[in-house]
Amino acid sequence: MNLFEMAKIPLNKAIEVMKLDPSAADIIATPERTLEVSIPVRMDDGTTKVFTGYRSQHSTIMGPAKGGVRYHPGVNMDEVKTLAFWMTCKCAVAGLPYGGGKGGIVCRPREMSKGELERLTRTYIDKISAIISPNTDIPAPDVGTNAQTMDWMVDEYSKLKGESVYGIVTGKSIEIGGSKGRNEATGRGVCFVTLEMMKKYNMKPEDCKIVIQGMGNVGSISAKLLAEEGAKIIAVSDVSCAIYNENGLDIAGIYKYLDSGKNLLDGYTGDCKRITNAELLELPCDILIPAALENQITAENADRIKAKIVIEAANGPTSVEADEILNKKGVKVLPDILSNSGGVIVSYFEWVQNLQNFYWEEDDVNAKLKRQIVGAFNDVFDASEKYDCTFRVAAYIVALNRLVTAKKLRG
Ligand code: GLU
Repeated sequence: MNLFEMAKIPLNKAIEVMKLDPSAADIIATPERTLEVSIPVRMDDGTTKVFTGYRSQHSTIMGPAKGGVRYHPGVNMDEVKTLAFWMTCKCAVAGLPYGGGKGGIVCRPREMSKGELERLTRTYIDKISAIISPNTDIPAPDVGTNAQTMDWMVDEYSKLKGESVYGIVTGKSIEIGGSKGRNEATGRGVCFVTLEMMKKYNMKPEDCKIVIQGMGNVGSISAKLLAEEGAKIIAVSDVSCAIYNENGLDIAGIYKYLDSGKNLLDGYTGDCKRITNAELLELPCDILIPAALENQITAENADRIKAKIVIEAANGPTSVEADEILNKKGVKVLPDILSNSGGVIVSYFEWVQNLQNFYWEEDDVNAKLKRQIVGAFNDVFDASEKYDCTFRVAAYIVALNRLVTAKKLRG
């Protein structure tokens, strides 16, 4: 079974639990449109290399397609379609007037120069410009892309149109139409929903031991904010290795160290023990936050996971089999389409600011993010009680209800 078919398993479960006609899922069973493009790029050594890129618009039932663009060697059409499907469900759970989309380019961004990345990005935008616009499909950052990537995209698209089109992408630098708080938004959202989970289960931040896999944008900001709330972050990892201190790591120090562009393995000298990424996932802790890539908790290691709560900060970190094993063990899993929706929520705020040419203060952005994501959390929590199901199935119930209603109204 491919990733996209696997991803629909909880959706089908939701249909069963809600006692909907199984054809209800047909409206989002396949993407509305997926484009594959080839992207020739002049490399610094004078040669031309041709990269493959994709943009998938999974659904526009709730509004324009919305979702990031991933630069990673593992990108493929099945993955892009799956990530676009998750965006449709994520935007619906968050209550945003958006459908879902996703893009990707098969490349190794860490091994490319800034010039090569800029040329790659500009040509990708040229190639997909026919199907994107602020009213049809709005890209954003994802794994391997950042505000700089978005800035090149807005510039290239604006050149093509002969006018400044800030609303074409979100996650831009603040100086050229980005929103205050967008860079931190996914991590901040993860922190908000983690605190809500603690409240529901009578846990206090200062009594919680937290393990975080991945110290990219999402993982590092979640770690920083949760540490500021008093939680003990006992282990973190990046692409190079994992580090552990059962009494709590110096997160502010690690954050500063990683910000200088170095890997943990390069020479982080804080008080910690080095462990493998696999060992990190299996550490005894209260909360595990996978914030890296898909398929990290699988049938192979799920049985050894010791966390009481898993907050999915990455997209799709738990395989379908692993999800079942964790449920049987009584581990509470807060699904990706809720936990990491802070990013797209503030993307929505950025887009609204761009369309109005009126910019908000960071406090305002953060307060609105909190209201939106805590609202979505409560909707999912209530659905899980009403239908006596997992949070994942509950999240799909909330999404599906909104999608089915919108489709009915549209006719
Ligand atoms: N790439 C992020 C996600 O997976 C953000 C998408 C967006 O802001 O449009 O949710």
